[in-house]
Amino acid sequence: MDFSLSAHELRFRDELRSWLAANPPPYAAILDRVGRSEDHPGADAMVAWAKLLASGRWLGLAWPKEYGGRGLGLVEQMIFYDETAPLDPPQLGQMVSLGVVGPTLLRYGSEAQKKRFLPRILGADDVWCLGFSEPGSGSDLASLRTTALVDGDHFVLSGSKIWTSHAPMAQWCFVLARTEAGSKRHHGLGVFLMEMSLPGVEARPIHNLVGEPHFAQLFLNDVRVPRECLVGAPGDGWTIVNGALAAERDLWVFEMSGELRTALRRTLGYAKQVATDEQPGHHAPSQRQSLAQAWIELELLRLNGLRSVTNALRGNADALDASRHKVFGSELAQKVAGLALELQGPFAQLAGCEDFSPDRGTAAHQYLTRRSSTLISGTSEVQRNIIAQRALGLPR
Ligand SMILES: Cc1cc2nc3c(=O)[nH]c(=O)nc-3n(C[C@H](O)[C@H](O)[C@H](O)COP(=O)(O)OP(=O)(O)OC[C@H]3O[C@@H](n4cnc5c(N)ncnc54)[C@H](O)[C@@H]3O)c2cc1C
Repeated sequence: MDFSLSAHELRFRDELRSWLAANPPPYAAILDRVGRSEDHPGADAMVAWAKLLASGRWLGLAWPKEYGGRGLGLVEQMIFYDETAPLDPPQLGQMVSLGVVGPTLLRYGSEAQKKRFLPRILGADDVWCLGFSEPGSGSDLASLRTTALVDGDHFVLSGSKIWTSHAPMAQWCFVLARTEAGSKRHHGLGVFLMEMSLPGVEARPIHNLVGEPHFAQLFLNDVRVPRECLVGAPGDGWTIVNGALAAERDLWVFEMSGELRTALRRTLGYAKQVATDEQPGHHAPSQRQSLAQAWIELELLRLNGLRSVTNALRGNADALDASRHKVFGSELAQKVAGLALELQGPFAQLAGCEDFSPDRGTAAHQYLTRRSSTLISGTSEVQRNIIAQRALGLPR
């Protein structure tokens, strides 16, 4: 592997650095509100950050220029995450529009859909949510029951979706539903671009562990979605969704390693400060070992990410890399969050607004939100099954 950047990539990095120096992420104000409000500060911050990046044309770096992207490559995307992570910005990878809808439309969308939706996604004009999971159909997505049956120029959607992130604030939803009545498993499915303001769409908020209305259960009561909002053809849904989920998981390694590095640096800073303040017991040998081990694993995540990029650039991309990175990165994220909590001890319980909180409640917030990282976009158990069967050739 060659770790050095080309002259062109160095120019790109320098341009980004100067821009970021003048346009830092609007984040600090958000942390102060964590644990105190009924609104969703994390999502507000994410949208504000995306809008700021859009104003500098830093979204959709790899998207074609004709749709508003920059037509750049994987290395520039990696540089983007490397440079933004130390600023501790909100997670863009959680934006369904950039990670799932955009890449899917680029691959499977009609020209009219690309022209209508892609520029708005790059402008961070709309919030999108992902309507895949249903009550009883999570890991086993192919068992979903929501139907989308043709009626003239419309499809009529009926059923329920759950754990739909950002649904309470979303304008659009990327929905998977059955276009053939009575079809089974992955046959007869379609993917729809559904406007959340259509009659019959109801989003009942669900609060996450930190008390934010992060997701919702969606009730679709005979929602009439125009035919032109079907992506691909009826029956193409399963192929499209598999491509979409892979796109979502691909983001993990880039964004996650940068984010974890920043989190671990913060924890190391705290450990050093406590050691200097000579508070006995706070830098026990086992904690030193754990910090060093987490740093080693973080380096492994980054190097494995670089290896995937190198393979992809050489035309040897391995689809299973997404599963490997997802398992390793999400479990490491929980480990790193746990370490910060362990070091802070009882102080970690203080919310962001409390005077004696060592880090304005960040450690506790991270610990609680990271619980879901081994579930979201495919659980660790399911990813391990994929690796066992497809990489190791083990029986089902
Ligand atoms: C924070 C968060 C955000 C989410 N956002 C969205 C979203 O925006 N849109 C959306 O559609 N969904 C979303 N989800 C749902 C997510 O995709 C599902 O939670 C996930 O796929 C697991 O499905 P489930 O919750 O139904 O659990 P289940 O599938 O019921 O699994 C329960 C347990 O059984 C295990 N298990 C299941 N099958 C197997 C198997 N074959 N072998 C071994 N173990 C197995 C699982 O690993 C898990 O531990 C979100 C979830 C979370 C936590």
